[in-house]
Amino acid sequence: NRKKQEEIEKTVQEKGITQIHMYFSDVLGDLKLLTLSAKLLPEVFEGKTMFDGSSIAGFSSIKNSDLFLRPDLDRPRYEQDGDESILAFFCDVCTPDGERYEFDPRNVLKDALERAARDGYSIFVGAEPEFFIFDENGEFYDEAGYFSTRSEDKGYEVRQHIANRLSEVGFNIEAVHHEVAPAQHEIGIKYDDALHTADNIQFFKEIVQLAAQEKGAKVSFLPKPLRDVNGSGMHLNISVWKNDKDGNPTVNAFEEPESDYGLSLTARHFIEGILKHARATAIFTNPLPESYERLVPGFEAPVNICWSPSNRSSMIRIPASRGSATRVEVRNPDPSANPYFALAALIYAGLEGIEQQLEPSAPNEDDLFEYSAKQIESQGISSLPATFHESIQSLKSDRFHDYFNHDLIDRYLSLIQVRK
Ligand code: GLU
Ligand code: MG
Ligand code: MG
Repeated sequence: NRKKQEEIEKTVQEKGITQIHMYFSDVLGDLKLLTLSAKLLPEVFEGKTMFDGSSIAGFSSIKNSDLFLRPDLDRPRYEQDGDESILAFFCDVCTPDGERYEFDPRNVLKDALERAARDGYSIFVGAEPEFFIFDENGEFYDEAGYFSTRSEDKGYEVRQHIANRLSEVGFNIEAVHHEVAPAQHEIGIKYDDALHTADNIQFFKEIVQLAAQEKGAKVSFLPKPLRDVNGSGMHLNISVWKNDKDGNPTVNAFEEPESDYGLSLTARHFIEGILKHARATAIFTNPLPESYERLVPGFEAPVNICWSPSNRSSMIRIPASRGSATRVEVRNPDPSANPYFALAALIYAGLEGIEQQLEPSAPNEDDLFEYSAKQIESQGISSLPATFHESIQSLKSDRFHDYFNHDLIDRYLSLIQVRK
């Protein structure tokens, strides 16, 4: 740790950094920021940054309100605000005794990853958030469509500005494109370990919004801004890696060239776990009433709980890459999700599939949007919750919620129902 601290101190000197951004998330997944003078860096390293937890959604009561921030030194980030250089950290929330705080979403994901580690696995995730760009009057910024070119797409300039800003703060931007709906765009977030991908998603949304504002635009990460066009998803590409005895990832546990679809039994079990609990995890991956307006047939968003080696109408698709890039793409999550909870839920579900060696199901090769309700029923394919209310009930009625602190679930479910 001392070594990481020294490196950060050195960068602070070199870049002339004057401010530190301390980021964490509330139970809804809204990002929170505390700005400190860079003079406080030694206190920051010691985890002495205190804040009032009673004012954060889902956190502590007035009586026991003091909480502390402990920065994650593995991923120092650097931001620029005009001429001002800023050091930014994602933080763990801790109690006054220095324990991890149980309602901190980051802690919830860490718990899930510790279970994975006990099973001998590390988890890597890449995310594909989609979003709409609106102008200052709330109108679509452009009328272009899938993969439109610069001359057709008025939104190109804003999107490129966003991508540049993301690169400046350290994102590894690989693919950027117009999506199917007017003014809808996608910028992929390169895979990282699950914890840092959740942080990356939070940071991404903040930087994307800021960059759009610089161009007089506004970004919406809502899952279904308009009924008649595609909604915005946030596909999560998950791979599970086998650890060595020191807990370091060695090989992708999903790849097996000799087996059906090039997938190992571990991959097939993991898929089954996610399918088994898809109805219970939906309130984490799809937390808004509008999330369920997106999950309807005909808009490239999944409705049915099944998997497929390639078909986009399934909830899980297996992207064509194999080798170390072998992964499952979970297609129902949307960008309004608290990414820590969404990933924790999917990881618990997938691990259960592996732990219980759930029987692999046959993939669905057809376009399910072409099926009638009867055909789907006769094949025994169930569907994701149709409404927000059904989704809440699905979590409550599945023992799956036992993976989480019950108090946390209660707080989460009551907060999402009163949010506006
Ligand atoms: N926008 C679609 C959705 O709601 C996904 C399109 C795609 O396959 O990238 O999930
Ligand atoms: Mg897309
Ligand atoms: Mg995708």
